[in-house]
Amino acid sequence: MFDLGTLDSDADEAALVARIAELEQAKSVAAAEQAKATAAFDVARRAREAAAGVLPARRGRGLANEVALARRDSPNRGGKHLGLARALVHEMPHTLAALAAGALSEWRATLIVRESACLSVEDRRRLDAEMCADQRSLDGLGDARIAAHAKAIAYRLDPQAVVDRAVRAESEATVSIRPAPDTMTYVTALLPMPQGVSVYAALKRFADSCGDGRSRGKVMADTLVERVTGRPADVATPIAVALVITDETLLGGDTAPARVPGYGPIPAAIALRLVNAATCDERSRATLRRLYKHPAGGALVAMESRSRFFPKGLARFIALRDDTCRTPYCDAPIRHTDHADPHIRGGPTNGVNGRGSCEACNYAKQAPGWRVHGWTHDDGTHVIDFTTPTGKRHASKAPPLPGVGEQTGDVEGGLADHLAHYHAA
Ligand SMILES: [Zn+2]
Repeated sequence: MFDLGTLDSDADEAALVARIAELEQAKSVAAAEQAKATAAFDVARRAREAAAGVLPARRGRGLANEVALARRDSPNRGGKHLGLARALVHEMPHTLAALAAGALSEWRATLIVRESACLSVEDRRRLDAEMCADQRSLDGLGDARIAAHAKAIAYRLDPQAVVDRAVRAESEATVSIRPAPDTMTYVTALLPMPQGVSVYAALKRFADSCGDGRSRGKVMADTLVERVTGRPADVATPIAVALVITDETLLGGDTAPARVPGYGPIPAAIALRLVNAATCDERSRATLRRLYKHPAGGALVAMESRSRFFPKGLARFIALRDDTCRTPYCDAPIRHTDHADPHIRGGPTNGVNGRGSCEACNYAKQAPGWRVHGWTHDDGTHVIDFTTPTGKRHASKAPPLPGVGEQTGDVEGGLADHLAHYHAA
């Protein structure tokens, strides 16, 4: 380990600024060393697997997840770190040297690698030398200019490759959601440029012709909701929004926050407003379902099925318990209810052995050498232990449920006593 030293708190201002710069350089040095270690890990694992007779297409499976766990990052980012390391170490020595010298941050090196990804290895080496052989030329360039510069070189070297990549990218169009502050949310559409521009222009045109006192942004947002859901924006919870709330909050005036799966915690008052609006608005249909009670009536937790597949009720319970993919640092939405200990090895189909998983993590843990084990802590918390092929262990705890230890700081009860699952549809 390199020694970063300690801060001299009596240092003068110039020395403190020098210290900040020195530490920034240390981050880049560390990123370059991490890339070298990652690429070497990749080579070593593949060589061992080749010697053991593993088919080429199956070598290195799950390796990106191991990199992610080591970096306390999501498996998705682990894949990006692995790609970056391979490109820097095997194809882009000047970019790696600029990172190691602190002339580039890890993110700026990532931008250069990303913009050159469509090129042949020879062209990539040319771009690498042209951009980073002279490290002084990188001085003063921000993220946008680094990316634009790399893009321009890539286009000059191989215009067809850049165009082909743009065509391929159209198939990656998608819509995603992430929380925003103040119980708002961002719904983001990644679209081919002409479609994206026309969606925005149509909303703007409508807002310009509206003039009913609402702000233009609000009209655009309302119109988007109406045209996508087919219902007026002011109808309460027009499509299914699940809400996990304790019945003390719902009925007893408690202020423990509720949780919307896929969004996160929301304040009790806002949860109650959603429930009231949905139950009072006759255009909306709302149902209330008591999900389970702990510790006295853990029937659902203990529910067991002989089937290989998780029955709907059990899968719903696991999805609400886990909220997002249970791989540490993943946070991706749950796509599969998965056996921690595989069904073919006798793993039972029950709540303890079940885990919510995103698609990628479900496949990654099927790689040789991974062991995954679910168990329940004395306090009721569900824990999954992950052991990677190198023997490194990681634990993933199910997120606390609404109302658990919120006011007293006491997590003794483990799970909320009464958990109601409210569903407006
Ligand atoms: Zn995942």
